[in-house]
Amino acid sequence: MCVVCRSMKPRNELIRVTLCNGVTHINNGKQKYFGRSAYVCNSKECIETAIKKRSFNRAFRREIDHKTYEELTKFL
Ligand SMILES: [Zn+2]
Repeated sequence: MCVVCRSMKPRNELIRVTLCNGVTHINNGKQKYFGRSAYVCNSKECIETAIKKRSFNRAFRREIDHKTYEELTKFL
């Protein structure tokens, strides 16, 4: 489920962010991370909103490193 629009989507249409040992990682398919995950649609609107509203902070109930949000801009 997307943290922004809350719609259920197939995994290949979502960007997965995993909280692993207190650090958030954006899954790029090359490396596997284990931990709590939250997702955002791979769409301009949802990514922009997630960055603007810091939606992952709420999803993980903690402050997420701004680098994670910077990394998300690469998907725009
Ligand atoms: Zn969405």
